[in-house]
Amino acid sequence: MNNEKIEFYKKILLSEREKVVKIIEGIDRRWSKAIRDSVGNISAYATHLADLGTDSNEREKETYMLEREVRNLKKLDQALKRIYDNTYGICRFCGKEIQEDRLKVIPFTEFCIECKRNEERINNNNRKNY
Ligand SMILES: [Zn+2]
Repeated sequence: MNNEKIEFYKKILLSEREKVVKIIEGIDRRWSKAIRDSVGNISAYATHLADLGTDSNEREKETYMLEREVRNLKKLDQALKRIYDNTYGICRFCGKEIQEDRLKVIPFTEFCIECKRNEERINNNNRKNY
């Protein structure tokens, strides 16, 4: 992959990373506010308890979202590391170049489409065994 293309993907990865960090920070702020609001304030705490049904639902949704974004952040960081290591766009399994159509859709992917499919097949087989 030439430098121009590397720069192109690096920009995508960095802007994706910025988005993910903003989402994580947003959730973090909402959570600390909710905790602050309920600590040392009995009436707020009571309201909180009354709302617990919806609250815990919301919290669950956000926990799920947070976990997903943290995973994305890790993947993006790993992809950026591969850019600096000059191994970006190379399949970690077979060592071939990853198809660009695939990189455009999933810029942080580590595997080419063939290896990804093989991996999914292996996973499915494993699941059947248990
Ligand atoms: Zn491969």
